[in-house]
Formats: sequence, structure tokens, C-alpha cells
Amino acid sequence: MFDNLSGRLATVVKTLRGHARLTEDNIKDAMREVRMALLEADVALPVVKTFIDHVRQRAIGEEVMGSLTPGQAVIGVVHDELKKLMGEQNDALNLAAVPPAIVLMAGLQGAGKTTTTGKLAKRLKEEQRKKVMVVSCDVYRPAAIEQLKTLAGQIGVEWFASDPSQAPVDIAVAALDYAKRHFFDVLIVDTAGRLAIDEAMMAEIKALHARLNPIETLFVVDAMQGQDAVNTAKAFNETLPLTGVILTKMDGDARGGAALSVRHVTGKPIKFIGVGEKVGGLEPFHPERMASRILGMGDVLSLIEDVQKTVDVEEAQKLAKKMKAGKGFDLEDFKMQIQQMKRMGGMGALMDKLPGQLSQMAQGIEGAGADKAVARIEGIINSMTPEERRKPELLKASRKRRIAAGAGVSVQEVNRLLNQFEQMQKMMKQFSGKGMFKLLKGMRG
Ligand code: GDP
Repeated sequence: MFDNLSGRLATVVKTLRGHARLTEDNIKDAMREVRMALLEADVALPVVKTFIDHVRQRAIGEEVMGSLTPGQAVIGVVHDELKKLMGEQNDALNLAAVPPAIVLMAGLQGAGKTTTTGKLAKRLKEEQRKKVMVVSCDVYRPAAIEQLKTLAGQIGVEWFASDPSQAPVDIAVAALDYAKRHFFDVLIVDTAGRLAIDEAMMAEIKALHARLNPIETLFVVDAMQGQDAVNTAKAFNETLPLTGVILTKMDGDARGGAALSVRHVTGKPIKFIGVGEKVGGLEPFHPERMASRILGMGDVLSLIEDVQKTVDVEEAQKLAKKMKAGKGFDLEDFKMQIQQMKRMGGMGALMDKLPGQLSQMAQGIEGAGADKAVARIEGIINSMTPEERRKPELLKASRKRRIAAGAGVSVQEVNRLLNQFEQMQKMMKQFSGKGMFKLLKGMRG
């Protein structure tokens, strides 16, 4: 995500670095580059225009003349304007309604509505201790109803059995009635989508909205659709009083334009982003962090949050202690770190958040198919004896062959893992005694 955009913006900074001060001319060149970068990222044209105007005005203005280098100054302004474009700060879900707070999910088929309904239910249950019920009004696709049932079972929230022979509004009303009587805090209503906008669908979701009067009406849209995503958002926003947008599939190779355009075009905040197919793959959207990520600073803040949430503090402390005592980082620790990464939503989710250098290293470690690679690494380490894990130097050819056979991989793969481990060990040595938290905090500045 945003790789191209980040790369291009980095070039702008580099080009400006050679200049002592900002002039109309070098600003003009820089703005041309920024404009190209945004267009390539599939940002909507009117958004690009407004953005460039704002940046140019501020860049010429006095505020950048201080002690900053021209590159820094422009990047500072671009960062600030990116943040503004996406809405300054996170807009949390509003659940301040007489219970149950109703959340209506709207969007086209395939956008990720049902998946997101499950993800949202999980967040509300686990992070806000809400009693959540979900219901599907998609009477046209029994498979969608089943999909929601399965998700609800997986997450452990209540699923209201829809009767596909009923009208969507009747199903929703029955669910609401049940939720009231059983004191649910939140009712999330999944609705039917179509492949494209059509009147019948719009009429149906409008009727649902009128009858339910939801506190939140969320438009779910696939970020990979780029400008189309923004156009659909616009159409829905004209029909329904949306309260927010959820951009899904931000983990894919979406160029990111939708994230930059949707707020400007609809005036509605992006509340969450979908970052994976699994039920844990939903994150609150933070414009500031996203702006930093786009500019290649890496989303260190949200990484730290994730780490604090998922890292087993006791284990991390043990590791820190061990390193302080001068004992090296061994394969057992390597495995533990890999497991912690897995808990954070897999390598894919993590790599996106790391700042440039570390991210490159992580990619060097994993390459494509990161999560599968992680499973293989674990398999290889599991095939070693505890002694071998503590003293990898014991691993000579015959032991390597045994381990490879045990893990069902080639000896080359065992060698590759050992190389990766050595790199990691070197890095850990550099930070020895500091521990993971400090290491990450150190990256913030
Ligand atoms: P609906 O028709 O809008 O209900 O869409 P679904 O919830 O069935 O999702 C369509 C497809 O998109 C499924 O294969 C989901 O697993 C996938 N999907 C949904 N959200 C995400 C996401 O954030 N990331 C990725 N990679 N896939 C997603």
C-alpha cells in the first residue's frame, strides 16, 4: 500500500535537498512531482487540485522559511495537508443511543460488508465489552446469511436467524425487537449489496434506514476499487445519511487513492480500515498515522500499540533480562518473536507498519507469502533439539540434514533460516539490554 506514492514523495524531498531555499521555481517542480504521485496513486482529480493548491500556498508562505531545509519544509506541509485531507483525527464509532445502538452496514456486493460486520462485532465485544448481536438482511443470498452465522459463531456473538422469505425490513425489526428484549448493547445490521448501484438496492437500504434510525450508518467499500470506490461512496452518501466509511482490503495492493479522496468527496470520516481477511483485521483509521505511513515514516505509533496489546510482557522481559546478562538471542527467542508477530495479525500486517529500513529487513527475512514462511520457520525450529536451539553453532551438515528431513524442507531452507537468524541476532545485539519496547520507542523520534 502506498509504496509508489511514498517512493515518489521521497524523490521530491531528495530533489529539494540540493536547494538552499524554496523559490517559486523549485516549488513548482516539487508540486508537479507531488501531483503526479497523487494521480498515480489514483487520488481523485479535484482532490489532487485542492491538495496541491493548499500545499503550494503554504510552501510559498512564510511558515516554511525558518530553520528547516526546503525538503523538510515541504514534507512537513505535505504531511499536514495529507492529515487534513483524511480528517485530522480518528473518528470513533458513536454508540451513544438508547440500547441497542444500531449500526447499519451498506455497500456493494463483495466490498467486505459481511466480513466487516463480524470484525466490528469482535472489536466491540472484546475491546468495549459490549453485548453484540448481528443480523443479515440479505434475503437474496442465503450464503451471505450463513457466512454471517459462521462468523458470529467464531467470534462468539449472538446471531439472529433471518428468515429469507421475509422482507428485509421485517427481519431487521424482528431482530431489533429481540435485541431490546434481551438487553443487547449493539445490533449490527448487514444488508444486501449488488454488483453495481441499482435503484432497488438503494430503495431497500433507504427503507431499512428509515425504519431502524441507526446511530451509525457505515458505508463499506473496497479500497482496491480506487476512484470507483469514491464514486460509489458519493452515490450512497447522496441517498443515505452516512455517518462514516470503512475502507476494506487496505492490506492488498490498493494504491491508496481511495483513502485520500473519500473524505474530501463525501465529507464523511473513514472510521476503520480492513487490513486482512481474518476477523482480527480491522483497525481504527488514524489520519495522522496514515499520513506518516505515506511519507515513509512508518506507522510506528500504531505498531507500538499493537505490540503493547499482544506481546507477552513477561516473555519480553525475560528476553531483555537474558540479553542484559550477556546471553545471546537464540533460536528459541527467535521462535517466540515470530509467534508474537503472528499474534499481531501476521507478518503482512506488521511489515506495512514498519518504517522503511526495518520493513525492508523484514521483507528480506520473509519475502512473499510471509505467513506461510513463518509456519515453515516454526516447523524447522521445532525439528531442532532444545540444545540446538540454544547453541545454533552446533548445527553442522548432518544435523541440518536431520532437521530438514524432520521439517519436510530442503537443507538450503534450513541454511536460509540460520542466516536470517544470524541477521536478527546481530540486530538484537545492537539493541541488547533495551528490549523490544525500547527498541520500538527508539524508532519514534
Ligand atoms: P460482502 O459481499 O460485501 O458481504 O463481502 P464479503 O464480506 O463476503 O467479502 C468479500 C471478500 O473480501 C471475501 O473474500 C473477504 O474475505 C474479503 N475481504 C473483506 N475484507 C477484507 C480485507 O480487509 N482484506 C482482505 N484482504 N480481504 C477482505
